[in-house]
Amino acid sequence: MNYLQYYPVDIVNGEGTRCTLFVSGCTHACRGCYNQKSWSFSSGVLFDDAMEEQILKDLKDTRINRQGLTLSGGDPLHPRNIERLLPLVKRIKLECPNKDIWCWTGYKLDELDEYQQQMLPYIDVLIDGKFIQELADPALVWRGSSNQIVHRFKANEF
Ligand code: SF4
Repeated sequence: MNYLQYYPVDIVNGEGTRCTLFVSGCTHACRGCYNQKSWSFSSGVLFDDAMEEQILKDLKDTRINRQGLTLSGGDPLHPRNIERLLPLVKRIKLECPNKDIWCWTGYKLDELDEYQQQMLPYIDVLIDGKFIQELADPALVWRGSSNQIVHRFKANEF
């Protein structure tokens, strides 16, 4: 899996102060996509073990308290990205159980297959659905278009 960007401190992609990872690769091809560069699975750089260690280190950093990790892209729930992200989210919940995980995906929740659904137990907040330009509304919170839904699976532990 490749990633495009990693922000160790981010206050705009989810609630609270967070770490945010933008993974590469998306096949939804939404018209008006904010970042077409993210469509290619070969964009960006390889997500390696050092990057995983960096994220864990940042989440454990007591000088800047992060509420959790945001996964965006690209599409973190594309099957090609799950192989690498599943061990990451499992490790975060094991080593940092008080941190939450937010995830943006172009799939609808009920479209996810069994393989993709493996990620759900580790995700606290899922924003689902393609970006539909005709339904775009800048007043929406955490969503680009009104068809998208913010699913909160777990109570915030903070
Ligand atoms: S799901 Fe997101 S990244 Fe993928 S094409 Fe749509 S807006 Fe772009």
